[in-house]
Amino acid sequence: MGAVTKLADGQLCPNPRCGQNNPRSVTVCPKCGTEQRQLLGKGTVLKGHYRIESVLGCGGFGAVYKATDLRTGKFVAVKENRQHRTFVRFAQEANLLTLLNHRHLPRVHETFLDTVTGKAYLVTDYVEGETLELFVRRKGKLTWGEAKPIFEALVDAVLYLHERGVVHRDIKPANIIIVAPASEQFSVPDLYSLKRLAFSKHLRRGKKLIQHFVKGSSTGNGFIALERGSNRLAGVWSDEISGQRWHLWVRLSGSKVKGWWCECSEGQSGKMCIHLLALLALYCEEPSVFTPVADAPSPPVALVDFGVAKVMEPVNPSRPHSSSVVAWTDGFSPPEQYRSDIEVDSKTDQYSLAATLFFALTGEMPEDALTRLERACKGEPTLPPKLPEIPDAVWEAINRALSLDPQQRFLSLNDFWKAACGGEAKSPKISKVSVKEPLRALVSQLRHRVPFLTPSHSLSGHTDTVSAVVFSPNSLILASGSFDRTVRLWDFHDMRQLRVLKGHEDSVLAVVFSEDGRRLGSASADKTVRLWHLGEENAVVTLHGHNEAVLTIANSPCGEFFATGSADGMVRLFGWKDGHLVWRSEPLGAFVNALAFSPDGKLLAFGCADGVVGFLSTRDGKRVKQLCETGLSITTLAFSPDGLYLAVGGEGLGVQLWHLQERRIVRTIHPKLLGSRGWVNALAFSPDSQLIATASMDEVVRIWKVVNGKLLRTLKGHKGWVTAVAFSPDGKWLASGSSDKTIRLWRLT
Ligand SMILES: [Zn+2]
Ligand SMILES: [Zn+2]
Repeated sequence: MGAVTKLADGQLCPNPRCGQNNPRSVTVCPKCGTEQRQLLGKGTVLKGHYRIESVLGCGGFGAVYKATDLRTGKFVAVKENRQHRTFVRFAQEANLLTLLNHRHLPRVHETFLDTVTGKAYLVTDYVEGETLELFVRRKGKLTWGEAKPIFEALVDAVLYLHERGVVHRDIKPANIIIVAPASEQFSVPDLYSLKRLAFSKHLRRGKKLIQHFVKGSSTGNGFIALERGSNRLAGVWSDEISGQRWHLWVRLSGSKVKGWWCECSEGQSGKMCIHLLALLALYCEEPSVFTPVADAPSPPVALVDFGVAKVMEPVNPSRPHSSSVVAWTDGFSPPEQYRSDIEVDSKTDQYSLAATLFFALTGEMPEDALTRLERACKGEPTLPPKLPEIPDAVWEAINRALSLDPQQRFLSLNDFWKAACGGEAKSPKISKVSVKEPLRALVSQLRHRVPFLTPSHSLSGHTDTVSAVVFSPNSLILASGSFDRTVRLWDFHDMRQLRVLKGHEDSVLAVVFSEDGRRLGSASADKTVRLWHLGEENAVVTLHGHNEAVLTIANSPCGEFFATGSADGMVRLFGWKDGHLVWRSEPLGAFVNALAFSPDGKLLAFGCADGVVGFLSTRDGKRVKQLCETGLSITTLAFSPDGLYLAVGGEGLGVQLWHLQERRIVRTIHPKLLGSRGWVNALAFSPDSQLIATASMDEVVRIWKVVNGKLLRTLKGHKGWVTAVAFSPDGKWLASGSSDKTIRLWRLT
């Protein structure tokens, strides 16, 4: 097998949920609108044996790919380090990781510098499963009985790392994978059918071969290594005459052959060769000659990304042995991790693991360390009251491990775990967190480091209330609609107005971009919808049909349709291409104020002035179910991009966050508006589903954390009602529109 990298055509889209392999010339994914980053193309084979299948994630340091190790058929995770640093140091640190072997840590297979791509790579086990974060969000908080086996395994893994001088530095629910038990059972097609296959395909040679293996003869051509993983069989075949060795494998699911590979010429042309048949036949007859191999960490859990942050980060030449980038995760990193001049140690992991346990047992994200510090300075409690179902010993251990001062935490993770399990006869009573001067100083030092929103700039041009703002899918252009009857396009980076789209005969009430960014739909009080073909076509189609003002418009994620809701109580679905009417709903009984497509494109949620929220099937517009009847007018709706929630805003409701599967309200955001005469005009989820922005009557934009409903930021500047709000798809900008006729842009850093 040649050890040379072969680049495949194209580049994978960095969005793991997209999966598109685009031409290299493309800068924005035509399917999902994500900016392309010249990632490897699907089918690229690195170092002669890692075949790139898909993107698992993409971060600051580079991408993580799912790949097949062509020698064994195992899936692996390949982390690419695109930042420039000396390979020697990368290899030294990463090679230490290859020595680690623990049943709850993925194995680090190897690191290498690829001369073709010029980048460094780290190859680890691929772990299939759900992150603890999603698991808890989906299932709700865990009982101590449920959490204990998971955390027992995690503590064991982290202690193993600490004993070897490795600090994880990034323990959080997203780095913990609940490993699905591997189905130990798989079968191969029975010998009879294999023989038939072999006879028909390979005539005498096949027959002879299979007889040869079934009889277990060991002379002549044959396998010199055989292994059996969770869903695959692999072997190395030695050819007596040529002296060549070939790697081969079959991947199975149930008794179906899902894929195969053999290095012989027949196998390379994509055919099921005699070696593969022999491998299957041998497993039928003599499964015991295959060495079982654990393909991934054991259930219940795997801790991923250990040591990776350190290996992947660039080096500060003046302080080569310490961490030069300040990297943290709000809620899970202790205060000392927010500083660049402190080398983190095992107490950092203790804090993070305790915060993770807090999350598992309460279902709530812990507050970030800086907010906790500020609270401590004011003498306020830094953690919420204990839930009655959490055992005292566990809660006390969590409290102590979450001490803001590292000195007050347990000496080791082992002590933490013993205390949590009640093994420590009496945990010393922790006096109220003493906020020492250094901590106070830390607060002021760190405040400016907290990344969030830099002061806004505003776009002026509209001559009346801005009713709608929306970003183009590539996040480069902003479109706005206004009561001044125009739609405007802005290059908001340069604060420049690009175009004014005129034609509507009354206020524009809503605007939406098509998935490819080439078309724009606008809804107006003039009872029409206009479909603007941007770019070269530069044409406009006026769509009639609604009998009253068109109040809202929404784009379908499939990219083909958009829906409009009107004061005539009906919803219409149009095709983007030429504006043809696909269907029209039955009358819904009241003004349709808000519409939103579910991320899977199957449902269209509607919110009406009579307080009804329900769903239409996008296939035919039939009403399929009702979510609630609030009795108060609904003003705005949005699905979280991860599909877990529907946020409903309305008069006196605040924002109700509905868990879609459980069909219940999990929390209320903006509770001050409950029962009041105030309401949320518009709301938007951030692309990562973590934040909600709300626009309300009090001239303020607010940003809330979805996970706990807490208010994160209050953005002031508008001098009138805030009427519209939108996140850019790349997550870098927030835009708001107001009755003060301006649009404001808020940079999220
Ligand atoms: Zn894409
Ligand atoms: Zn072969």
